Amino acid sequence: MKILRLKKGKEESLDRFHPWVFSGALSDHIPSDLEEGETVGVEAFDGRFIGTGHFQIGSIAVRILDFSRRDIDEGFYATRLREAFAVRQTLSLMRPDNNAFRLVHGEGDFLPGLVVDIYGNTAVMQAHSPGMHFARNIIAKCLVELDGAGIENVYYKSETTLPYKARLDPQNDYLIGSYAGNTAIENGLKFNIDWLKGQKTGFFVDQRDNRSLLEHYSRGRRVLNMFCYTGGFSVYAMRGGAELVHSVDSSEKAITLTDANIALNFPGDARHKSFAEDAFKFLDNMESGAYNLVILDPPAFAKHRSALRNALRGYQKLNFRAMEKLAPGSILFTFSCSQAVSREQFRLAVFSAAAQTGRKVRILHQLTQPADHPVNIYHPEGEYLKGLVLYVE
Ligand code: SAH
Repeated sequence: MKILRLKKGKEESLDRFHPWVFSGALSDHIPSDLEEGETVGVEAFDGRFIGTGHFQIGSIAVRILDFSRRDIDEGFYATRLREAFAVRQTLSLMRPDNNAFRLVHGEGDFLPGLVVDIYGNTAVMQAHSPGMHFARNIIAKCLVELDGAGIENVYYKSETTLPYKARLDPQNDYLIGSYAGNTAIENGLKFNIDWLKGQKTGFFVDQRDNRSLLEHYSRGRRVLNMFCYTGGFSVYAMRGGAELVHSVDSSEKAITLTDANIALNFPGDARHKSFAEDAFKFLDNMESGAYNLVILDPPAFAKHRSALRNALRGYQKLNFRAMEKLAPGSILFTFSCSQAVSREQFRLAVFSAAAQTGRKVRILHQLTQPADHPVNIYHPEGEYLKGLVLYVE
């Protein structure tokens, strides 16, 4: 194992177990034959050993896997996966009426660079670092050997998650097993999961708890689900007894997925309609008072810190357009999944939107990601999903 040494004083955050070594923290003596994705040891300036991790070219140079000197081998992955699975068992996410959940949430499960979502007996795995890419076959083997998890197929989907410059040329494909149906069950509702062509691993499992909450507010309401993607919120609103549910997404493919999921659970139910349209255009043309329960769950407006100001303006504009047209006594579920936007910043953007309308607005709930997307306490950046449920007079 090659050793990378830190510059003087650069071990501070690592001593607090933050798992990232930034490239600027490394001394200039990097072994010339060091390959991207290699397992390296990290030492403080004075030679004290800090941890073992995956090396990568970029602003995060090493993702620490363990704060000790150890082999990153099959035993390592098997143990970490067992620990992650034990947490999901504690959360009771494997039930006859629920078989979709996140098994591995990167740093939150002390496996930086790795995401694994479970849909029934299929695991969909994404590598975000070259190190995890090179370990993919070992990880896949450990997944199917994970006692009690019942995983038979492992689909690898990293074509868009790995750094392009690393030229790893990953292929999306089954590492173990093959296609075995794609219907997952979440809280008793059925969803077609398109992990082959869909965004991320095919479904946003991170909104499970928030969809459940929405269901409780849906009875008798006229619901508008903006940025609906697979129609998750729409399906819950239908079960909750909404008077009507309208789903909007700019992507035709998303609308096809939404329609299919509605048909799967509520065949022939005329309460639902979908619109392949731009959200802002839809809001512009929408009649005031048409809806009294609205969901705004847009894609991350800020993928990087540099886009923060524009993103905040985007959230403000979107929330203003929706809020100004809500019927009196409406409920608004509004979200941001941008990691670069803090909870306070998001709240401020929504506050500005409310002030712009001049309406009376109460915060009923402050939402976040569910427990199967845990936040490593030493890595607060892992908290990315923020939501507010508002009552608009
Ligand atoms: N709410 C969804 C996830 C939303 S993902 C869920 O619970 O699963 C974001 C979605 O926004 C994507 O499907 C994308 O196609 C859509 N989208 C992006 N820009 C849009 C725009 N300007 N207008 C409408 N939809 C848009």
